[in-house]
Amino acid sequence: MLLANARLPHTPAPVDVAIAHGRIAAITPAAGRPGIDLGGALLLPSFVDGHVHLDKTLWGLPWRPNSGAPTVRERIENERTHRRTLPPVQQRGAALLRQMIAHGTTALRTHADVDDAYGLANLEATLELRQAFRGRADIQVVAFPQSGILTRPGVAELLAEALRLGAEFVGGLDPASIDGDAKGHLDIVFGLAQRFDRGIDIHLHDRDAGGNAQLRDIAARTIAIGMQHRVTVSHAFSLGTPDESDFARTADALAEAGVHILTSSPSVGIVPPVHALRARGVVIHAGSDNIRDLWNSLGTGDMLERALIIALKQGFRSDPDIETALSLCTDAAALGLPAHRLVVGAAADLVALEAETPAEAVALRPVRRLVMKAGVILAREGRCVDEK
Ligand SMILES: [Zn+2]
Repeated sequence: MLLANARLPHTPAPVDVAIAHGRIAAITPAAGRPGIDLGGALLLPSFVDGHVHLDKTLWGLPWRPNSGAPTVRERIENERTHRRTLPPVQQRGAALLRQMIAHGTTALRTHADVDDAYGLANLEATLELRQAFRGRADIQVVAFPQSGILTRPGVAELLAEALRLGAEFVGGLDPASIDGDAKGHLDIVFGLAQRFDRGIDIHLHDRDAGGNAQLRDIAARTIAIGMQHRVTVSHAFSLGTPDESDFARTADALAEAGVHILTSSPSVGIVPPVHALRARGVVIHAGSDNIRDLWNSLGTGDMLERALIIALKQGFRSDPDIETALSLCTDAAALGLPAHRLVVGAAADLVALEAETPAEAVALRPVRRLVMKAGVILAREGRCVDEK
């Protein structure tokens, strides 16, 4: 297959991209060869959403006004009350996956709720989605104790069963502020990861200095069991602290332990500072988190939109800074997957769109003319190819 008359970032002259066996086989100056004429469209590596909740989404359903509340604890209870009225996870999750793929995402990590009320139902449904979308999206599944572990009898055992069923990651949630016992919570999470040889992805919302103390504890535990670059902390808002020495101490601990930081870049409150973390060697990447669900009505699953949100929150204005925001949204390596790169030999995971530069792509978020994974065209002109 040949993608003819395309452009690569920072390369003004158009190129032809030959694809063979799912990989980029050659990139040569455009020469009017027969193929799929992209008309000078810009190619970007396909997008990576490091944190979604496929089991929570209301995508594809009529608009539902948000019934949430101000605190994490209240939002958990609100969801537990209303979620039983929703159609099956497979239906809602598939609708969102198609939306994400049509917008250029071909790799993602999703958290699936495991709790005392639902047991493993959401996790099993999410594993079904992973299987149904094999070849269209690389989907990693986190067994996520949304309602806590220690405060909900039986959840630790359910998490173990989730890992036996095939979840690649064990999740955690606010070890101190939700479960009330940071040590006890982390003992279980790290114990399960070690026992089943799986990665870890912990939601940590605590914004005070206690949040950074937990991050340093997580870093120390990661080194202790040799899990460098297999542990992610999502949100980690406390890294936005104005206390420079506390920040530096914590960032250095995360860098040494290879603990990755995932941001969804919420509009309210402090967030991890992208440049300062990268300067200290910390991997930071991005995800959507809640997309049109009982927690949050906003979001579309478009990672160009997420890059815009990151750029706005971080005060990024220059083109290199905006490209940095976009780089958080294409970082497959941060998930432990092969990097998405536009070079000969890399998997042909790419997106084509009408923009002069990557920064303009973030600014305009134009329709995705083509989305390809491993050389297979998944979407054209903003729609999945198997859609009517
Ligand atoms: Zn989340």
